[in-house]
Amino acid sequence: MIMADKVLYRCPECGLHYEDEQIAKQCEAYCKEHQGCSMEITKLSVERSKASGNPQS
Ligand SMILES: [Zn+2]
Repeated sequence: MIMADKVLYRCPECGLHYEDEQIAKQCEAYCKEHQGCSMEITKLSVERSKASGNPQS
């Protein structure tokens, strides 16, 4: 059985997943520092990018 899943990196602070480890680390750093997420970062998360309502589709 072939799995097409990509490796995902999870921010331990907010629990969102990213395809890019560097983005996940940025999210973690931001979450720790600001006690919350940056929308600029979370919009890159798998959860957000899968969400319906993509205006560019
Ligand atoms: Zn985070």
